[in-house]
Amino acid sequence: MISSLSQSHLTLLETCPRKFQHIFLEALAVPTGPDQQTSALWGSQFHLLMQQQALGLPIEVMAPADPEMSESVAALRQAAPDLFATAGPSELRQSEHQRTLAFNDYLLTVVYDLLILSPAAGQIIDWKTYQRPPQRSWLETDWQTRLYLYVLAETAALAPEQISMTYWFVRSRDRQTGRLQPESYRFGYSARQHAQTQAALMSLTQQLTQLRQSAAAFPKVDIAKGRCDRCPFAIRCQRAGTASVLEQTVAIATGLDVDSVDEVVL
Ligand code: SF4
Repeated sequence: MISSLSQSHLTLLETCPRKFQHIFLEALAVPTGPDQQTSALWGSQFHLLMQQQALGLPIEVMAPADPEMSESVAALRQAAPDLFATAGPSELRQSEHQRTLAFNDYLLTVVYDLLILSPAAGQIIDWKTYQRPPQRSWLETDWQTRLYLYVLAETAALAPEQISMTYWFVRSRDRQTGRLQPESYRFGYSARQHAQTQAALMSLTQQLTQLRQSAAAFPKVDIAKGRCDRCPFAIRCQRAGTASVLEQTVAIATGLDVDSVDEVVL
């Protein structure tokens, strides 16, 4: 049974409890396409490379054959040389740094790609290897950001205002020249955000405990949110073709003939 919760668990539980059940409790696999596999492999090799450089190993020699990877590391070094510095006298710099926090009968777990910790500040660094950065507002409320900041504030002798999280998008390119140009989003933190995250974590963990104590299946997401059409469990959940199901629901509620109205983008 699950006792350890990562950002993936929290995200999925909030997105659709039934999907959480399928993936984490029933261990049903979600198929991934070749593009996703290639992208995931590139991402894991990049993380490994950055871990090697943090250990002081010469990454030029250890870089894999993919020239974009070496170029991405070089572009990042140029954009943010501080990330490649050695630790100062009273500073901790560690890649793949794991922390665990006991919370409401669960263990919240995080793994920081790079943590730079001093008596005055804590910086969480995360490498993102998507081709394009997502919306900043999306990442700000993503569970990775909220959980990572929360756990550091709870486990380090620092006030929330002394903590930050920075995402580096290492494959970003200049739109005109096409040259690699790493971008970053930095998120500060505050006591108010910390309290909000704590309340959200309390609510989600209580919900999970209640669901696990019940003999019933975890609830499906509201069909009106339009998440089922893109979900690999749509057939299992009898939600395949939910756009047409939703159209019929709307039609019944409004008395409209579905064929007489324009298609609604969900
Ligand atoms: S099909 Fe819909 S209800 Fe079922 S797991 Fe996917 S998102 Fe949840």
